[in-house]
Amino acid sequence: MEISEMREWERISAHSHILGLGLDENYRALRKADGMIGQIEAREAAGIIVKMIKEGKFAGNAILIAGPPGSGKTALAIGIAKELGEDVPFVHIAGSEIYSSEVKKTEFLTQTLRKAIGVRIHEMRNIYEGKVESLSVEYMQHPYNPYQKIPATATITLKTKNEKKKLKMDQSFAMQLLQQGIEEGDIIQIDADSGRVVKIGISKDAVEEKSYDLSSEKIMDIPDGSVLKEKEFVYTLTLNDLDMMQSRSGMDLASLLFGASERKEISEDVRRRVDEQVKRLVEDGRAELIPGVLFIDECSMLDIETYAFLNKAMEQELSPIIIFATNRGITTVRGTDIKSPFGMPLDLLDRLLVITTKKYDAEDMKEIIMTRAKKEGIKIEKDAMEYLVEIGQKASLRYAIQLLAPAWELANKEEIKREHIERVYKLFADVKRSVNYLRKMEEEMIY
Ligand code: ATP
Repeated sequence: MEISEMREWERISAHSHILGLGLDENYRALRKADGMIGQIEAREAAGIIVKMIKEGKFAGNAILIAGPPGSGKTALAIGIAKELGEDVPFVHIAGSEIYSSEVKKTEFLTQTLRKAIGVRIHEMRNIYEGKVESLSVEYMQHPYNPYQKIPATATITLKTKNEKKKLKMDQSFAMQLLQQGIEEGDIIQIDADSGRVVKIGISKDAVEEKSYDLSSEKIMDIPDGSVLKEKEFVYTLTLNDLDMMQSRSGMDLASLLFGASERKEISEDVRRRVDEQVKRLVEDGRAELIPGVLFIDECSMLDIETYAFLNKAMEQELSPIIIFATNRGITTVRGTDIKSPFGMPLDLLDRLLVITTKKYDAEDMKEIIMTRAKKEGIKIEKDAMEYLVEIGQKASLRYAIQLLAPAWELANKEEIKREHIERVYKLFADVKRSVNYLRKMEEEMIY
């Protein structure tokens, strides 16, 4: 698996409990809903932006979320994307990534922007549809984080209309399966043409809502007796997926979606051809374009050139919503010697709506940690939880959440007790403590 895929998995899976912004019909935030806890004002502000986007009234195309580390900036951005629609692309990059990429900065940015624009395509495809009767996931050790396990393969027993099938899935599928929260009893769809899963995640509720109406679908028998249905299939790819498909012709849809995805230069010619094809599909009513969300964390790392590039992109007719996030105050705009708020050029800052996130109080922090623990299947004693919250208040929420996994290992996956938290707190330093330690060491070195 590619490192970039792994990074993506880690980033998104840390927020798998976030299902939306948790607002009521009047866009008021409920204290706890859709996996979101507290941070009421920021969520309501985000809700108004979602409303404006849906009504086509959000001209700026960009917002800035400013707040201390671990105050839910990423969670908020994911909540916005989820509210915009289930298949709305969400792309997460850190500002510093533009310098570490194997391709040129502008190429990296163009690819990233095109990843954040979806093309919803309607097509006739042969699919299996069945109920997940059993599901087991095998995990493997994370290659560089000894405290993390990642899915390696998954096996599911699928009950289709008249048979049962045992299917072994590869790593990419196993990850997708977990990310989408597929459970036993859910109905899933598998693309029969490629033999791989291209779309899963029709939830129990969705099926009930649709009342399982198959009348418009042709059912046909294939030689081995499996039942296939031919039906209109809707799937969403991104402009970047299509670029990659076009530039490596001969590649099938499944390997494109789940295969290796190393970055490489894509020619302007390829992009032009893709844009023409997409335009035709849209004109024929066979596809719709859906602007997604591009989340740029640590935006103070971006330089003036990048800002100019993004500024231009935001003015295009088809632009993703760009959400910048920062925890810096006044700092120098990279590539210049001008100081400005968040290290952002003032002309850009002028057109942004800014949402601030606040540090969590102990009560909210506790609920967030509890939600994460529950999601990971981790049991934790009350006393240990209180101590962890205390640590979170001193260091950061992120650090407190990070301690859950090693403490769970120490507890032999039974129940985390206070002593386990005490031990991992000693063993793994938070940023503040590790910096102080190094500073002290440096002082001792000077004689
Ligand atoms: P950083 O500044 O380090 O990038 P951040 O402000 O983006 O951090 P997150 O990564 O969003 O903070 O938050 C840390 C963890 O807490 C994540 O797992 C996130 O999903 C969860 N979390 C944060 N805020 C909330 C919230 N209001 N409700 C539920 N979960 C939250």
